[in-house]
Amino acid sequence: MESSPHIVILPTPGMGHLIPLGEFAKKLHRLHGVTSTFILPTDGPLSKAQSSFFSSLPSAVDHLLLPPVSFDDLPPDVKIETRISLTITRSLPAIRRGLASLHESKKIAAFVVDLFGTDGFDAARELHIPCYIFYPSTAMALCMFFYMPELDKTVSSEYRDLPEKVQIPGCIPIHGGDLFDPAQDRKNEAYKWVIHHMKRYRLADGIVLNSFKELEPGAIEYLLQKEEGKPRVYPIGPVIKMGSESSDDDVSSKWLDEQPSGSVLYVSFGSGGTLSHAQIIELALGLELSAQRFLWVLRLPNNAVSNATYFNISNSGDPLAYLPEGFLERTKGQGLVVPFWGPQSQILAHTSTGAFLTHCGWNSVLESVTNGVPMIAWPLYAEQKMNAVMIHQDVRVALRVHPDDNGLVHRVQITNVVKALMEGEEGKGIRTRMRDLKDAAAKTLAQNGASTKFLAELAAKWNTTTTTTSI
Ligand code: UDP
Repeated sequence: MESSPHIVILPTPGMGHLIPLGEFAKKLHRLHGVTSTFILPTDGPLSKAQSSFFSSLPSAVDHLLLPPVSFDDLPPDVKIETRISLTITRSLPAIRRGLASLHESKKIAAFVVDLFGTDGFDAARELHIPCYIFYPSTAMALCMFFYMPELDKTVSSEYRDLPEKVQIPGCIPIHGGDLFDPAQDRKNEAYKWVIHHMKRYRLADGIVLNSFKELEPGAIEYLLQKEEGKPRVYPIGPVIKMGSESSDDDVSSKWLDEQPSGSVLYVSFGSGGTLSHAQIIELALGLELSAQRFLWVLRLPNNAVSNATYFNISNSGDPLAYLPEGFLERTKGQGLVVPFWGPQSQILAHTSTGAFLTHCGWNSVLESVTNGVPMIAWPLYAEQKMNAVMIHQDVRVALRVHPDDNGLVHRVQITNVVKALMEGEEGKGIRTRMRDLKDAAAKTLAQNGASTKFLAELAAKWNTTTTTTSI
């Protein structure tokens, strides 16, 4: 008997991963009738953002929360890539049980893991379920995933000490210091974990990529070339969050409604980004001095790490208390500061939004591109420096800030870059290129567009798996 395919998705818990995976699952159902179940490994209770994400999913996208794993034995400074990988390996018995029981009732057509979820393959292989990866970042970073195990064998120093730029196949040459975070300390466990996953990428039956050809032509062309041991890549992007959020968020939209078209700089560092207190002060004063309108989503400061809220965004405390004295009064007509979380997809789609100062998380970049909003790149962690190189030097739809030796971006630099983008000559060229990219994004997602066809190819494959295994 024929039934619609069912897939299982194994995400990592950060919102920047859950959001595109949720959109991917919804789209698969809307366009191809594929249903799905998220099996979610956890390390504690869900945050408010995570809970509302799961409760907002339609019935065709189910979820199963696994019992939390313990990290009591880990040192407090353990890196995020290690933590994510261990969340998966420590959840393997529960993943096995969840998969087996779902496979018995629904016949799973594919098991789709997130960036560092390749250890989950073992559980799926035992049940003969095909294994896929949803790659939530750039084609450039995926090219690096295929290339780095080789680089690891030939380079003995830290990559940041290399005199020459690193030439990842298909990509713009990049300084070793701009490679993603785990590659910056090769002795750390996190680096060993990523090399482990990179090698396992070749075991996948296919890789779903959240990007599109016009945005990354060289890298995607390279990825699509057939090569022994390189899985088929499906560039189906941009897959971004759509639709409206709850009414608590109306403040930003109402404020934007009152501003002139294209006049507002939106400032946000994603779901995980945090700044030091000193940096918050510099940014505030830089924005004030620029005299440009701004809408800033502000988190509590964190002086130690820049991804403090990646796993869990706390809503306690008052971020506004860390702004310079008198700032809110002085900028009353000029800007709006929103604590903790803003309705980003609505903000970027609003006609008053003219630019985006972003930490270069890939979802933020895709959301900006889809809405044709030029960017200022302020990368903080993960692969964000690579994304910044790409959007600033390669695609040229962003300006970039550069921190000083103490890691601080000074107010004068902020003022200059904001003015250059909002009212300078450089800004004009960037806006034109961004408009073209916006059109290309719309085209690739149209009925006969390339990304739509890749998604259809994937769904057809999973349909075949289902019809050949169900009798
Ligand atoms: N986001 C949001 N409101 C916020 C901050 C983030 O809606 O105040 C959403 C944003 O639209 C994006 C995701 O959270 O979809 C962040 O993903 P990204 O890859 O940009 O960064 P990450 O959070 O993974 O660092």
